[in-house]
Amino acid sequence: AADKIDTIVSLSKRRGFVYPCSEIYGGQRAAWDYGPLGVELKENLKRQWWRYMVTSREDVVGIDSSVILASEVWVASGHVATFTDPLTECTACHKRFRADHLEEAFEAKHNRAPESLAEVNCPNCGNKGQFTEPKQFSGLLSTHLGPTQDSGSVAYLRPETAQGIFTNFAQVQQTSRRKPPFGIAQMGKSFRNEITPGNFIFRTREFEQMEMEFFVKPGEDEKWQEYWMEQRWNWYTGLGLREENMRWFEHPQEKLSHYSKRTADIEYRFQFGGSEWGELEGVANRTDYDLSSHAKASGKDLSYFDQEGGERWTPYVIEPAAGVGRAMLAFMLDAYAEDEAPNAKGKMEKRVVMRLDPRLSPVKVAVLPLSRNPDLSPKAKGLATALRQHWNIEFDDAGAIGKRYRRQDEIGTPFCVTVDFDTLEDNAVTVRERDTMKQERVSLDQIEGYLASRLIG
Ligand code: ATP
Repeated sequence: AADKIDTIVSLSKRRGFVYPCSEIYGGQRAAWDYGPLGVELKENLKRQWWRYMVTSREDVVGIDSSVILASEVWVASGHVATFTDPLTECTACHKRFRADHLEEAFEAKHNRAPESLAEVNCPNCGNKGQFTEPKQFSGLLSTHLGPTQDSGSVAYLRPETAQGIFTNFAQVQQTSRRKPPFGIAQMGKSFRNEITPGNFIFRTREFEQMEMEFFVKPGEDEKWQEYWMEQRWNWYTGLGLREENMRWFEHPQEKLSHYSKRTADIEYRFQFGGSEWGELEGVANRTDYDLSSHAKASGKDLSYFDQEGGERWTPYVIEPAAGVGRAMLAFMLDAYAEDEAPNAKGKMEKRVVMRLDPRLSPVKVAVLPLSRNPDLSPKAKGLATALRQHWNIEFDDAGAIGKRYRRQDEIGTPFCVTVDFDTLEDNAVTVRERDTMKQERVSLDQIEGYLASRLIG
């Protein structure tokens, strides 16, 4: 299973999904850059999220707030005081860990929580119980604004996009003329000074989030949390993530974040080294914690006057919060498959195929002239240019056709369109579907409609 992640990491690098950051300087640990295919996949994912969560609904609107907010925001939100992780160090090998991660790994293995870290083996050197007393370590990344570098100029890079939504709540509510229950969504970069980043793009210090804060009447929060849990589950399965690799994890009461009444995570079977499951997304009931805290600290009224009931209340908030990189990794792991395909001589050979939902596929159609030829190539190029008006198209005329099919299978391209010598006579092309490898002859004047009906969304 650990192999599968390694396979995805190397495929990502080889084909241009994800590269190690600053690799010409030896790479920066646990930071990654998205290449030409990765950025397409990532943008497709974000587009699907935005459609599902925002534009297909009448009760959710979007915003795009700053990464650096007023420092007071992070004091009021509780992040300056409590956004910390317990840091411990193995005194034998000097590697640092998050104490809560060590405890969780122990619990997953032994079905009980450890009495103390004295019971836990170091995942790096194997020594038992050699850990220092955990110290709280701030997860906030900070910088300085302006020419002086003193405490007055400290600014924080947001560790979540949510606070930009809370600070804009009243304005958005008024200008968009929405009434609770309604939501505000935002996608964008967040930053956390993670002690132990790693597992490829699962945990990085710089990452993208897709968050939505749904404002409801107090008392209706529990019902709405159930609703959004179901919606979020359906979003992943609707885009092809297999349910057998997903589960819910309910946060125990004593471990809830400072703002939460209930949090349930969708976990995916990432299967990294020691742990099978990892958080994909959290759906939290943040109560009225954030709006009340900001109202108190800013002196601005952030309550809502409910004309129907004739009463004033501060909305409760249900928050589905997802990570773009984690979702992308889950979809890639889930879509990766190995099966068999016939080679040029009709013999079955192993093939790698990424069975991504076509809505997520970075390249929608590959246009392939059967061979490099003065008649076929211009015809195929013309077709590629026409199709590019609608989709991301790849044109490839290098090497044997079978090999070119394999390249497209490996990156998840749903359709290959081959221009051959018959095309010059019958004005038709061969369309090959990725998963079934079935081929169909389609006339050139119908090809756009044929593809359009199969590449919805
Ligand atoms: P974890 O327990 O894994 O640190 P979290 O519970 O702190 O995650 P949330 O605060 O709930 O995470 O953030 C919402 C989502 O943002 C997560 O489910 C995840 O998809 C994403 N996310 C959080 N931290 C990171 C990170 N360091 N790298 C990549 N994605 C992240």
